Amino acid sequence: MRVGILCLMQESNTFLNRKTEFHHFEEDLFLEGHEIREKMVDSHHEVGGFLEGLDAAGFDAVPIFAARALPYGTICKQAFDQLMERMFLLIDQAGPLDGYLVAPHGATVSEEHPDADGYWLSQLRKKVGTNKPIIGTLDLHANLSERMVESTNALIGYRSNPHLDQRARGLEAASLMAGMLRREVHPVQQAVFPPFVMNIEKQCTELSPCKELYGLAEELRKTPGILSLSILQGYPYADVEEMGTSLIAVGDGPSEKTNAVLQELSQHLRENREAFDGTGVPLEEALNSLKKESSRTCLLDMGDNVGGGSPADGTLIAHGLLNHQIPRSFVCLYDPESVDRAKHSGIGSRIILEMGGKTDDLHGPPLSAEVLVEGFYEGVFHEKQPRHGGSTHFDQGQTAVVSCDTGLTVMLTSKRMAPFSLEQLRSCGLDPQTFQVLIAKGVNSPLAAYEEVCSNFIRVDTPGVTASNLNHFDYQHRRKPMFPFERDLEWNI
Ligand SMILES: [Zn+2]
Repeated sequence: MRVGILCLMQESNTFLNRKTEFHHFEEDLFLEGHEIREKMVDSHHEVGGFLEGLDAAGFDAVPIFAARALPYGTICKQAFDQLMERMFLLIDQAGPLDGYLVAPHGATVSEEHPDADGYWLSQLRKKVGTNKPIIGTLDLHANLSERMVESTNALIGYRSNPHLDQRARGLEAASLMAGMLRREVHPVQQAVFPPFVMNIEKQCTELSPCKELYGLAEELRKTPGILSLSILQGYPYADVEEMGTSLIAVGDGPSEKTNAVLQELSQHLRENREAFDGTGVPLEEALNSLKKESSRTCLLDMGDNVGGGSPADGTLIAHGLLNHQIPRSFVCLYDPESVDRAKHSGIGSRIILEMGGKTDDLHGPPLSAEVLVEGFYEGVFHEKQPRHGGSTHFDQGQTAVVSCDTGLTVMLTSKRMAPFSLEQLRSCGLDPQTFQVLIAKGVNSPLAAYEEVCSNFIRVDTPGVTASNLNHFDYQHRRKPMFPFERDLEWNI
């Protein structure tokens, strides 16, 4: 038995006024054929799980194509066409296959295809016919569509936010594929789309109210005849019809139990919907609370959430730290121009820099300060621990570390980098424990790394393309009614 492996992942923020282009994939992950095994077999990514699971089942794993770009704007038409052309050419060259393990993200949007995942999965289905199983994993932020469900035999979402179970879900998908090809199980999936989207602030699976929701799912998963059950929290920063939280269950053959477990989860969401709405802390309140706080604090910048597709150069919290003269504080900003200027000035020199705030005017003006240039680094680092996203190799490009007189240390990067690993600091000579306050541009994804050094986390309600307050956004395509936009609504699912 030969099983093909395909991976195409990107979370597309349609509110960002920039497009994701082909080079963004090349800069993050773009692999073909045997390179995929070499680079991903040991990773915490689901493709690593696919490979391990197929090997263990004694099947021939045929890695074909794996591409991923860091979350950013809608994918431009040309880049998406190029990705499709390459992927389908490689499928043609892969020889006869008995099934496909696929890793779409689930919240990918291209200029031409708002439901880009649904588009390529349906193209794959059309190509291989209905007799070949297609089983996939989905990021927990997937905006699930009917088309994705119709085009696949089974879809399995991550169960952890931060995403630490990607490899485990890959293994689960491979095991389901093995069972299906051996005719031991007959997966039939069903999805429901409640009129609801979960606020990002309440998406951490270790904390209430998600903790209780995921606990219920864990119990329901034990129902005889249920092969898989997933909660897809959804990605609110894509203005598409599919935007929202959804539930998907896979039964062994057609079964009423599949519908029953979905109804029970949907009912739990309906009854507790208010608890899943956001209550972010205003910036001034967060800054004032620092003065009374003795434990090391992580300020989570929700409006500039890099893992949610934001620019990574938002300055609003950093301005606050400067104005309040908070000592021993840290921020990382994407700013290739300032890296160049600091480099020309040289280590040990003092210069005035205008840092960050250059992508747009939604995330704060540049941070203007006289700084001491502390050091330069290549910006490449490695993470061995399971962290959000499952990556082990990171490259943030040439990096400068500078310090302001108030005690704010600024790391300036040449490429956008999400705060998924503390190696980002350590590889640039910074010990995270020497800081009292660290800004992490994210909401839940940084926790896996930052919990190692911080005991106090404040989710700061900053504006921007990933703001937690969804009333900031002018949606044109979302379903209506939907909680929290419409608070009194019929919920019949
Ligand atoms: Zn995600």
